[in-house]
Order: sequence, then C-alpha cells, then structure tokens
Amino acid sequence: MTAPLGWTPAKTNLLDMLPADAEAVLRRFAEQNGERSFRAVQVLQHLWKAPRADFEAMVELPIVFRRLLDEHFEIPRLALAARQLSSDGTEKFLFRLRDGEHIETVAIPDGSRLTLCISSQAGCALQCSFCATGAMGFSRNLRMFEIAGQVRETILLTGRKPTNIVFMGMGEPLMNWKAVDPTLTVLNDDNGFGIGARHITVSTVGVLPGIIALGQRKEQFRLAISVHAPTDALRATMMPINTKYPLADVIEAAKAFDRRVTFEYVMLHGVNDLPEHARQLAELARECKAFVNLIPLHAGGAGDFTAATPQQIAAFARNIRERGVEVAIRKSRGKDIAAACGQLRVERERRRTPVGAN
Ligand code: SAH
Repeated sequence: MTAPLGWTPAKTNLLDMLPADAEAVLRRFAEQNGERSFRAVQVLQHLWKAPRADFEAMVELPIVFRRLLDEHFEIPRLALAARQLSSDGTEKFLFRLRDGEHIETVAIPDGSRLTLCISSQAGCALQCSFCATGAMGFSRNLRMFEIAGQVRETILLTGRKPTNIVFMGMGEPLMNWKAVDPTLTVLNDDNGFGIGARHITVSTVGVLPGIIALGQRKEQFRLAISVHAPTDALRATMMPINTKYPLADVIEAAKAFDRRVTFEYVMLHGVNDLPEHARQLAELARECKAFVNLIPLHAGGAGDFTAATPQQIAAFARNIRERGVEVAIRKSRGKDIAAACGQLRVERERRRTPVGAN
C-alpha cells in the first residue's frame, strides 16, 4: 500500500506524555538537529510550567528550530467554546475537543487561593440522581493531554496559575485511572505544574481499584469520597454505583487509605438530611477519621430535589460536630453561572447557540 498524496506522519503530541519522556524526546530531537540540549529544556518549560500557546510563541528559540519543532510535534490547544464569569469571581470554561465533545473547567478564587475544578471524562456513566453530568450519559474517557490541558488552557487564558486542583468536574476520575495517573504526575512534577500533592484532590464515588491505586502513589494526593448517604438502602436510591461498590466496602477502602480522607455529602432536603442521617454519617466518619464536607445542592442538576436550607445544613453540621467529627459547609460558588458538575454543557445544549464563542 502506498501512502495517499500529501500524507504526513502524525505529529508526536508532547502534551500526552510525562515531562521526563517529553524531555528525553526533545533532547534527542535537539541533538539530531544540531541544537544545544538547553533548547530542549526551554521547550519543556513551555509545555506546562510557563505555558506558551504554540511553538511560534517560544520566542527565545531560533525561528528555524521553532519551525522544525512544529513540523514534528504538536502541543494541542483545547478550543474555548464558552466562558462565563460569576459575580463572586468564579469562572467557568467550556472546552471543545477535537472530536466535538465538550468538557467543563471551573476556576474558583478564594483569597490567595485559586482552585481549579477539572473534568476527567466527557459525560459520566454513573447517573447519580441529582447530578447534571450523569443525566447526559457517558461519551468517553479523556486523554492525559485533555485533562492536564485544562490547567494549561486556563493559565494561557487568565495568566493565573492555580494553587489547588480538584477532580470534581465532569466524570469519574477513578474510572479513567489510565489517564488520571500520569495527569497527577504532570500536576505535581517540578517540570509539570509543580502543584503540591496535598493541594490535589481526587474525588470519587468509591471506585475500589482506583482508591487502592491512588493509595499506592508515593505522593500525598488527597482523596475525597462522595458518600451522600449513610446507609446502603438510601445510597442505592441516589447512586446506582452503590450496587457495585457498596458503602461498607468503600468505608473499608477509606480506612485502608493511609492519608486523610474527606467525605462529601450533598444535602437533599427530606432525603438525606434527617438527624438520624447525621448520627450515622458521624459514625462512619469517625471510623475513617474522615473530614466531612457538606455541600449545598446546586439547583439545576438533575432530578426533582429541593436543597436543604442553610439553617437545616447548619443544624446537621452541629449534630455531626457534637459527635467529635470535623465538618465544614462548602461555600456554594458560581450559582449564577450554574457551576455545579455538568451544568454549563447542559445549559448550552438546551440553548444551542454559542455564547462568548471564539
Ligand atoms: N465522580 C466524582 C467527581 C465528580 S462530581 C464524584 O462523584 O465524586 C464532584 C462532586 O460534585 C461530587 O461530590 C458530586 O456528587 C457533586 N455534585 C454533583 N452534582 C451536584 C449538584 N447539583 N449540587 C451539588 N453537588 C453536586
């Protein structure tokens, strides 16, 4: 078979490999093209650490070398499909991937902190009853360059580097461990974004093999578990995954995880906010030495739920605290831009006309 006319071999994607591998590839490339090896290091810095939009923008490199790089490698952008700024400073980005899938990233400033909430899958297979992403179904796993790429893009777009990363956007990160594992390296590595492992949180419904794999990483990455109900019977009505990974097993996995675990608990009025639930939840949290995060329900997710009132949430928190468990009520951010999981993409599909698209 002969190659079709005009066919060129696929370019190597420098954003879909670990920094150490990119460095090796770039050093070899520089050497083969008669460039000094520090040129390879300069390119490496512009992948993640001090990102540049393309090779052309790496202005300290000789023009000829930039052109050569462009012929052999790619550093793909994620196309910005929409961008919304909340009155509280929370900013939401909708990115379009090369196959037309859309994913969301949310930047949440808080004093000197900037937390970036990133997606690990396009859509989600889990169908938690209150979640907008679940309602849209699962499309596909994201690749490493699409997950870490969200951080790169927001730095390119805003000029600000996040201090904290949470895997609380679309999808279930521990059902895409193959891509999340190297992404964690890029986030933490000195030649990646250099964000401290304790400032990187993976949130999961309780995918057991993934929790074990995360626990085996030597860095201190944080684990958050979406508990949402203190009994199997109730949890199964909210989270179908509870059949595959029952609460008792998830709790065992949390105990075995030798670093601090956070329980997430979304407050659904009349469903999981009774005093009895607080008592049972506190019991589980004590067993795991977990910290409890109560999340006010973001309206416009899925299902027909009512948010617990701030007073109800405060009473629930008090009940837990009195039992010796640390608890916090998460500040609800970006309400006016529908910043909860999956909401921007849903909103956009309803409206069908691009906002702020470029
Ligand atoms: N699949 C992972 C990570 C994505 S969701 C997980 O479930 O943990 C991140 C968090 O947002 C989860 O705790 C999820 O339950 C919560 N969430 C989803 N929809 C929400 C809504 N409408 N209001 C408040 N929290 C929501």
